[in-house]
Amino acid sequence: MFAVRVRFDHLIVFPDRCVRCDGDPLGGTAEVWDDATTWWSYLVFFGRFVTLRIPACTHCQRRIFREQWGKWIVILGGMIVFGFLLVRLAWPLLPTGILRLVICFALVYVALAVCTFAWYMIVSRTVELTAEKDALRIEFRDDDYALDVGILNDAKAIPWPAEE
Ligand SMILES: [Zn+2]
Repeated sequence: MFAVRVRFDHLIVFPDRCVRCDGDPLGGTAEVWDDATTWWSYLVFFGRFVTLRIPACTHCQRRIFREQWGKWIVILGGMIVFGFLLVRLAWPLLPTGILRLVICFALVYVALAVCTFAWYMIVSRTVELTAEKDALRIEFRDDDYALDVGILNDAKAIPWPAEE
Protein backbone atom coordinates (compact mmCIF):
# COMPACT_ATOMS: atom_id res chain seq x y z
CA MET A 1 0.00 0.00 0.00
CA PHE A 2 1.19 3.47 -0.91
CA ALA A 3 -0.13 6.86 0.14
CA VAL A 4 -0.01 10.24 -1.56
CA ARG A 5 -0.37 13.55 0.27
CA VAL A 6 -1.88 16.57 -1.46
CA ARG A 7 -3.05 19.96 -0.25
CA PHE A 8 -6.78 20.25 0.31
CA ASP A 9 -7.15 22.88 -2.41
CA HIS A 10 -5.14 20.89 -4.96
CA LEU A 11 -7.18 19.59 -7.90
CA ILE A 12 -5.98 15.99 -8.10
CA VAL A 13 -5.21 14.41 -11.47
CA PHE A 14 -5.72 10.65 -11.67
CA PRO A 15 -4.34 8.17 -14.23
CA ASP A 16 -6.87 7.24 -16.92
CA ARG A 17 -7.45 3.69 -15.73
CA CYS A 18 -9.66 2.02 -13.17
CA VAL A 19 -8.35 2.51 -9.63
CA ARG A 20 -9.37 -0.99 -8.68
CA CYS A 21 -8.74 -3.31 -11.68
CA ASP A 22 -6.54 -1.21 -14.01
CA GLY A 23 -9.19 -1.59 -16.74
CA ASP A 24 -10.52 1.12 -19.03
CA PRO A 25 -12.89 3.28 -16.97
CA LEU A 26 -14.64 4.46 -20.19
CA GLY A 27 -14.96 7.89 -18.64
CA GLY A 28 -16.61 6.52 -15.49
CA THR A 29 -15.69 7.53 -11.99
CA ALA A 30 -16.38 6.24 -8.52
CA GLU A 31 -17.20 8.62 -5.74
CA VAL A 32 -14.96 8.10 -2.76
CA TRP A 33 -15.89 9.91 0.40
CA ASP A 34 -14.84 9.84 3.95
CA ASP A 35 -15.07 12.01 6.96
CA ALA A 36 -11.28 11.77 6.78
CA THR A 37 -10.81 11.39 10.47
CA THR A 38 -7.64 10.87 12.34
CA TRP A 39 -7.84 9.04 15.65
CA TRP A 40 -7.87 12.07 17.88
CA SER A 41 -10.36 13.98 15.75
CA TYR A 42 -13.11 11.60 16.89
CA LEU A 43 -12.77 13.25 20.27
CA VAL A 44 -13.10 16.77 19.01
CA PHE A 45 -15.29 16.62 15.92
CA PHE A 46 -16.08 14.21 13.15
CA GLY A 47 -13.24 15.26 10.91
CA ARG A 48 -13.43 17.01 7.62
CA PHE A 49 -15.74 15.59 5.01
CA VAL A 50 -13.92 14.90 1.74
CA THR A 51 -15.27 13.66 -1.58
CA LEU A 52 -13.19 12.63 -4.58
CA ARG A 53 -14.14 11.24 -7.97
CA ILE A 54 -11.64 8.63 -9.11
CA PRO A 55 -11.67 6.81 -12.49
CA ALA A 56 -13.31 3.39 -12.14
CA CYS A 57 -15.04 0.95 -14.50
CA THR A 58 -18.74 0.19 -13.97
CA HIS A 59 -18.04 -3.08 -12.17
CA CYS A 60 -15.58 -1.52 -9.74
CA GLN A 61 -17.81 1.52 -9.17
CA ARG A 62 -20.30 -0.83 -7.54
CA ARG A 63 -17.60 -2.57 -5.50
CA ILE A 64 -16.21 0.75 -4.29
CA PHE A 65 -19.72 1.96 -3.43
CA ARG A 66 -20.20 -1.13 -1.24
CA GLU A 67 -16.79 -0.67 0.38
CA GLN A 68 -17.74 2.91 1.21
CA TRP A 69 -21.02 2.11 2.88
CA GLY A 70 -19.80 -1.13 4.41
CA LYS A 71 -17.30 0.73 6.51
CA TRP A 72 -19.89 3.03 8.08
CA ILE A 73 -22.53 0.39 8.55
CA VAL A 74 -20.05 -1.92 10.29
CA ILE A 75 -18.36 0.77 12.39
CA LEU A 76 -21.47 2.67 13.45
CA GLY A 77 -23.53 -0.50 13.88
CA GLY A 78 -20.70 -2.03 15.91
CA MET A 79 -20.43 1.11 18.00
CA ILE A 80 -24.14 1.04 18.88
CA VAL A 81 -24.25 -2.67 19.72
CA PHE A 82 -20.89 -2.89 21.48
CA GLY A 83 -21.32 0.50 23.18
CA PHE A 84 -24.73 -0.52 24.49
CA LEU A 85 -23.29 -3.77 25.87
CA LEU A 86 -20.45 -1.95 27.62
CA VAL A 87 -22.79 0.60 29.17
CA ARG A 88 -25.14 -2.16 30.29
CA LEU A 89 -22.34 -4.16 31.87
CA ALA A 90 -20.89 -1.14 33.64
CA TRP A 91 -24.24 0.39 34.67
CA PRO A 92 -24.50 -1.10 38.22
CA LEU A 93 -20.98 0.15 39.01
CA LEU A 94 -21.45 3.70 37.73
CA PRO A 95 -21.77 6.72 40.01
CA THR A 96 -24.81 8.94 39.60
CA GLY A 97 -25.06 12.40 38.09
CA ILE A 98 -22.94 13.98 35.42
CA LEU A 99 -20.06 11.55 36.00
CA ARG A 100 -22.28 8.70 34.85
CA LEU A 101 -22.94 10.53 31.60
CA VAL A 102 -19.25 11.18 31.06
CA ILE A 103 -18.33 7.53 31.66
CA CYS A 104 -21.10 6.32 29.33
CA PHE A 105 -19.80 8.64 26.64
CA ALA A 106 -16.28 7.32 27.17
CA LEU A 107 -17.49 3.72 26.90
CA VAL A 108 -19.25 4.44 23.61
CA TYR A 109 -16.09 6.10 22.37
CA VAL A 110 -14.09 3.00 23.31
CA ALA A 111 -16.60 0.91 21.35
CA LEU A 112 -16.18 3.21 18.34
CA ALA A 113 -12.38 3.00 18.54
CA VAL A 114 -12.40 -0.79 18.83
CA CYS A 115 -14.79 -1.20 15.88
CA THR A 116 -12.77 1.21 13.74
CA PHE A 117 -9.52 -0.54 14.58
CA ALA A 118 -11.04 -3.97 13.88
CA TRP A 119 -12.34 -2.74 10.52
CA TYR A 120 -8.93 -1.51 9.41
CA MET A 121 -7.31 -4.76 10.54
CA ILE A 122 -9.76 -6.89 8.55
CA VAL A 123 -10.69 -4.86 5.48
CA SER A 124 -8.41 -3.23 2.96
CA ARG A 125 -10.34 -0.69 0.92
CA THR A 126 -9.38 0.37 -2.60
CA VAL A 127 -8.95 3.95 -1.47
CA GLU A 128 -8.77 5.40 2.00
CA LEU A 129 -8.87 9.12 2.83
CA THR A 130 -7.42 10.73 5.91
CA ALA A 131 -7.19 14.40 6.79
CA GLU A 132 -3.87 15.49 8.16
CA LYS A 133 -3.09 18.89 9.58
CA ASP A 134 -2.76 20.66 6.25
CA ALA A 135 -3.00 17.88 3.68
CA LEU A 136 -5.24 15.11 2.48
CA ARG A 137 -3.66 11.69 2.61
CA ILE A 138 -4.97 9.23 0.02
CA GLU A 139 -4.00 5.62 0.52
CA PHE A 140 -4.25 3.28 -2.46
CA ARG A 141 -4.34 -0.47 -2.27
CA ASP A 142 -2.76 -0.56 -5.76
CA ASP A 143 0.86 0.55 -5.38
CA ASP A 144 1.38 1.34 -9.08
CA TYR A 145 -1.72 3.50 -9.13
CA ALA A 146 -0.46 5.42 -6.10
CA LEU A 147 2.94 5.95 -7.70
CA ASP A 148 1.31 7.30 -10.88
CA VAL A 149 -0.93 9.63 -8.89
CA GLY A 150 2.23 10.87 -7.19
CA ILE A 151 3.93 11.57 -10.52
CA LEU A 152 0.86 13.27 -12.05
CA ASN A 153 0.43 15.55 -9.05
CA ASP A 154 4.03 16.29 -8.29
CA ALA A 155 3.63 14.60 -4.92
CA LYS A 156 5.69 11.76 -3.58
CA ALA A 157 4.00 8.41 -3.04
CA ILE A 158 5.23 6.90 0.18
CA PRO A 159 4.87 3.34 1.49
CA TRP A 160 1.90 3.13 3.85
CA PRO A 161 1.69 2.43 6.74
CA ALA A 162 4.93 4.41 6.97
CA GLU A 163 7.89 2.20 7.69
CA GLU A 164 9.78 3.06 10.82
ZN1 LIG B 1 -12.37 -1.74 -12.60
